[in-house]
Amino acid sequence: MTRGSIFVISAPSGAGKSTLIKRLIARMPELSFSVSYTTRAPRAQEEDGSDYNFVSRKVFERMVRRDEFVEWAEVYGHLYGTAQKPLRAAQEKGRDILLDIDVQGHAQVRRRLPEAVSIFILPPSFQELARRLRDRHSDAEEEIERRLNTARGEIAHWPEYDYVVVNDLKKDATQALEVIVRASRFRRHTQAAQVEKIIGTFGG
Ligand code: ADP
Ligand code: 5GP
Repeated sequence: MTRGSIFVISAPSGAGKSTLIKRLIARMPELSFSVSYTTRAPRAQEEDGSDYNFVSRKVFERMVRRDEFVEWAEVYGHLYGTAQKPLRAAQEKGRDILLDIDVQGHAQVRRRLPEAVSIFILPPSFQELARRLRDRHSDAEEEIERRLNTARGEIAHWPEYDYVVVNDLKKDATQALEVIVRASRFRRHTQAAQVEKIIGTFGG
């Protein structure tokens, strides 16, 4: 059986990451989404257990002490983290799993799981990013300013990623993500078990 791959997707807030991930999973239902833990309050439309696991700072800090996270970071004043257990379970079942995490989290995953495939999503411009954040109507103006100020520092990390996708038209960007996921399934180490089996049939 081929081993499940881990996909890390990062982008400045408002670039359209959540939108693209939802579209990608609709096209590829075999992909699992890693539901992060966060101390941030839920937005309207967000569901506990499916968008995030919303927890108190106390619960989050206890999970940190128990080493339950593969990675965690403070982003825009809140704590966010990826639990180890579901990630391992998906990999062992041969399921591909997608992580929507920030650049600090990506750096930690890279160190611990160097086989992960990473994708950085860029908006077409700073002006378009600002427009998307404002049109989303999910954050107060002060919070939007904070996210825009952080964006410049975040995009400086793009060279650490395997792939870069510009989210101009949703359709094209979703297709680009699909192509990356499909191609990654043919990477050498993902195929190793199957190749060994075939080589075994050659004898000698
Ligand atoms: P993120 O998860 O990166 O913070 P969202 O997925 O919430 O971003 O997208 C931010 C806003 O931009 C949403 O209102 C979304 O509908 C919109 N959006 C996403 N992708 C595009 C696109 N390609 N063109 C125009 N608007 C987009
Ligand atoms: P938002 O509050 O807009 O949902 O997310 C804010 C930022 O936190 C985004 O950059 C998102 O990728 C990041 N994020 C979400 N979950 C995690 C996580 O589990 N770990 C880390 N490091 N970042 C996360």
